Amino acid sequence: MPITGLPRRQWLGSSVALGALGLLGACAGPARRTGLATDVPPLIAARADRISRITVCLRPFRAAGPRIETETLASKTVVHHYGHGGSGWSLSWGSAAAALDRAPPVQGIRVGVIGCGAIGLTTALVAQERGAIVTIHAAAPVSQARSARASGSWTPSSRIAKASDVTPAFAAQWETMARTSFARYQGMLGLPGMPIEWDRFYGLTARDAPPPAPDPIGFAELDNRIADMEPQGDRFETGDTALPYTRVHTKPNLIFNVASYGDYLLRLFLERGGRLEIRSFSHPSQLAGLPDPILFNCTGYGARALWGDTSIVPIRGQIAWLIPQPDALCSLYYRDIYVVSRRDGIVVQWLGHDMAQGYGRTDETADPAEARHAVEVLQSLYRGMGYAARDA
Ligand SMILES: Cc1cc2nc3c(=O)[nH]c(=O)nc-3n(C[C@H](O)[C@H](O)[C@H](O)COP(=O)(O)OP(=O)(O)OC[C@H]3O[C@@H](n4cnc5c(N)ncnc54)[C@H](O)[C@@H]3O)c2cc1C
Repeated sequence: MPITGLPRRQWLGSSVALGALGLLGACAGPARRTGLATDVPPLIAARADRISRITVCLRPFRAAGPRIETETLASKTVVHHYGHGGSGWSLSWGSAAAALDRAPPVQGIRVGVIGCGAIGLTTALVAQERGAIVTIHAAAPVSQARSARASGSWTPSSRIAKASDVTPAFAAQWETMARTSFARYQGMLGLPGMPIEWDRFYGLTARDAPPPAPDPIGFAELDNRIADMEPQGDRFETGDTALPYTRVHTKPNLIFNVASYGDYLLRLFLERGGRLEIRSFSHPSQLAGLPDPILFNCTGYGARALWGDTSIVPIRGQIAWLIPQPDALCSLYYRDIYVVSRRDGIVVQWLGHDMAQGYGRTDETADPAEARHAVEVLQSLYRGMGYAARDA
């Protein structure tokens, strides 16, 4: 799968040829558009001067999948819960339930959660639901954690493991985590600030696109296990030689407006009586001084340094953020770029042509040239669709 776990192979694969579906009305946009209104991505003003910031994040990848296991440290039980690759937001609720299942019963017990990203927050909330008294100890709250620099879409199998290391037990556990999380998200639709919502995804196959490159890393592909749960959408040939793309895969796409979603989770945790303490740990022995007998280690990529876990491989990912456009909420893939036009900003990411992009890179410095390239590719899509230079 390409970066975010979006099933590129699915939209590059067999397509249902629906043919040209008629022209839109003349006032609806460029005359060269073809198809139903929902077959055409809305216009995003893709210009380099609309880049408001560039962020970089390291996905905490483990070939065997996330580490969810228990260890004894002095008199404490430590439940390790990290290594969710490119799927941390998507799998968080189900993964948190799996981590709690491995811990001793927490009803009425003081629990410490180390980390306040997607995984730490959901672990803390599930622990509260099971009756624990929870304190989060973290170097940074969610708004400053790496989780805040994610694309924010439902990608439960993105860089979650290597195919060669996936056991039947892990595949089954992954499916349970994905189904549990998906169900939780359906219960969070329509909240103030729209932390979770459905948008429309457009997978556009460029006219002269090279064939998909083989995946040199060998990431696991597990999505077919949950194919019954998700809307699969439509695939069709545009039949319009004027368009810069020949095939379209369009479907509803579950997205996370990470700014409001992270804020919602943290508020919920505090409202339930949770405490947040900002502090950094440089060695596991420092955890022994915490008052909580049960600890959850949800430090993400930070676990590599804190616990000396060299099984965590960083996978660098950079986002060029364009100014939000509430009139153009959608997500799309085109020529190795992935875009999520969210309420809190438009994510534009260059994925590279194969799955090795960013693998093993620890560099979290922004690369403005890469950001500009990604935005220019998006701009070329809209120019190719006939939009004027002043629009895109
Ligand atoms: C470009 C990009 C796009 C992505 N897009 C998506 C997506 O669309 N959907 C999706 O599901 N996933 C996506 N991901 C993956 C997702 O962001 C991660 O899987 C997720 O953020 C991991 O969350 P975490 O809570 O484990 O780690 P983090 O967010 O890194 O949180 C770790 C927490 O632990 C704390 N911590 C770490 N070390 C210490 C220490 N020594 N002492 C004290 N505190 C410490 C930190 O301060 C932080 O609070 C993306 C990743 C990248 C890079």
